[in-house]
Amino acid sequence: MGGESSIIRVGAGCWSSPGIGEVESAASHQKNMTDYTTRVLETVRSKNASEPEFLQAVQEVITTIEPVLEARKKYEQNCILERITEPERTIIFRVPWTDDAGKIHINRGFRVEFNSAIGPYKGGLRFHPSVNLGILKFLGFEQVFKNSLTTLAMGGGKGGSDFDPKGKSDAEVMRFCQSFMTELQRHIGADTDVPAGDIGVGGREIGYLFGQYKRLRNEFTGVLTGKALNWGGSLIRPEATGYGCVYFAQNMLATRGDDFAGKRCLVSGSGNVAQYLVEKLIQLGATVLTMSDSNGTVYDPEGINAEKLAWIMDLKNVRRGRISEYAKQFKGVQYLENQRPWSIPCDCAFPCATQNEVNGAEAATLVKNGCILVAEGANMPTDLDGIAVYLNSKILYGPAKAANAGGVAVSGLEMAQNSQRLNWTPDEVDSKLHDIMRSIHENAYNHAREFSPDCTDSFINYVAGANIAGFVKVADAMIDQGLV
Ligand code: NDP
Repeated sequence: MGGESSIIRVGAGCWSSPGIGEVESAASHQKNMTDYTTRVLETVRSKNASEPEFLQAVQEVITTIEPVLEARKKYEQNCILERITEPERTIIFRVPWTDDAGKIHINRGFRVEFNSAIGPYKGGLRFHPSVNLGILKFLGFEQVFKNSLTTLAMGGGKGGSDFDPKGKSDAEVMRFCQSFMTELQRHIGADTDVPAGDIGVGGREIGYLFGQYKRLRNEFTGVLTGKALNWGGSLIRPEATGYGCVYFAQNMLATRGDDFAGKRCLVSGSGNVAQYLVEKLIQLGATVLTMSDSNGTVYDPEGINAEKLAWIMDLKNVRRGRISEYAKQFKGVQYLENQRPWSIPCDCAFPCATQNEVNGAEAATLVKNGCILVAEGANMPTDLDGIAVYLNSKILYGPAKAANAGGVAVSGLEMAQNSQRLNWTPDEVDSKLHDIMRSIHENAYNHAREFSPDCTDSFINYVAGANIAGFVKVADAMIDQGLV
């Protein structure tokens, strides 16, 4: 402590009076930093009291980056926590549309442009009845750190609507997407904000959204990612989140001299992320025991093989059916109605459906039953109690920000191809995805070793490592760019 004589203590007024504060003695650095994170969390809580998911995401990040805040006082002096927890811009708009019977419906549309310190806002659009501002702020906040980890120049954003595409005709989905884009188009652009898909927004929706953008703006640019191959999409983009999550998990296993051969795996979800994650696990010799949707889980003790997965892909992507039908189609399969997969004994677990789908008790059951690895395909699928269980048990735990960053990374590669007006081969993209996931693992690993006191030769806290690595790049860029 002796080297520094004083620091600026910004006090509780940092939001209203940035940079103005009293000078405090160096001896109180430790206490002051604890005060800093406590004070910021309290203010974030009081300003966003009705947004539990956002508060959860902020708490997880802030409490794990304390060591770097203590080591580098410039972040507190520049009010970085106060600034990084406030979106740069939030857009909320009305989305009117008519159904096939001519009836009028009104949904709410959102775009949260969270942070553009290291590149244009980038992040998906979610169409689901549960969507609200708090959920999109949590997703946008997570996206800032995730995008920073990818090594590519992308800021963080997220958007969507409380519209439910389930049960709607293609024509209804098209009219909704056109109405949504009619407003969104004035806020986005290839160098400003580049949305992609997420829950409820797949290739069909991206097509309708892109068509309307092009019609209104009269320009063909890389304003959306997740496009189809014949009009600007990238090979391996649909596969990227699931494949990337498995590549990250492979890197974690390798630190313990292990691999996926013969591993029993639980997967939740049966959408885009889950499908390609299962495909890659099968290729690597693992046995996938479960997939699920919001109504229940199918448990196949024989394992879901490539042929059965192809059937699921057709069920989900073409026929738009329910996962329960798998249990009727294949022998020996149990359907666990309204249940999640986590009570089944396994070696590895991959939550790939939605936020808070693994709680503390379920995480404890996973560990008790022998699970040695959890890698998150979904965003924030484990609650704070569950994360504590993983960390205390010292299993290999790949948090979403790091483990599912492959999707947005390949979106970044899609943007690069669009700018060059070139298409790379599947091998080129997959090899870049491999490299990016390796580098994310290495970056999280090294930052955890440097800053997180609980790391040892046999245990790495990837939550701390990913949060710190993601944070410092964005925070340093914010300082370089001044108070904006
Ligand atoms: P999809 O819409 O393709 O699939 C979502 C899956 O999760 C479906 O099986 C769905 O079941 C299930 N699900 C959704 N909500 C719930 C719920 N409340 N309870 C139980 N199951 C639910 O979405 P994606 O696969 O694209 O996204 C899945 C997760 O991965 C999300 O957390 C998303 O944010 C994250 N993610 C996605 C990326 C991407 O590239 N697509 C990138 C990074 C993260 P049902 O059909 O019954 O709704």
